Amino acid sequence: MHEWALAESVIKSAVEHASAEKLKKLKEAGVVFGELQAIDGEIFSFALEELRKQFPGAASCKFKIIKQPAAFRCKACSHEFPLKGLKKTKDEAEFIHFVPEMAHTFLKCPKCKSPDFEIARGRGVSISYIKGEK
Ligand SMILES: [Zn+2]
Repeated sequence: MHEWALAESVIKSAVEHASAEKLKKLKEAGVVFGELQAIDGEIFSFALEELRKQFPGAASCKFKIIKQPAAFRCKACSHEFPLKGLKKTKDEAEFIHFVPEMAHTFLKCPKCKSPDFEIARGRGVSISYIKGEK
């Protein structure tokens, strides 16, 4: 059900963006979808298609999902490194997807070996752009 709630809030915020830009009809919206977001992409897309009907301005809006790869930023040396390409087992990789905070247990900055880093990208869902008719 999380996917549906999230899809609804994405559509609502797309509609808000559209009215702020005085668009009458939304044609397309880019939705940035973080790699670490623990939701099902297929259910999410389906929910977007179903729920948009409830919003007159967004009923025919295409939602383009833009996957954003996860990246971390080292707090010690500010080095940014992607989740992809780091050495970890498959189990660890899956675990990180569900509990990003646990990444600290497995990962270290590849540059200075500090385990103290933050998530720079790949969390959450946001609107990257909208297109529509005035
Ligand atoms: Zn570092």
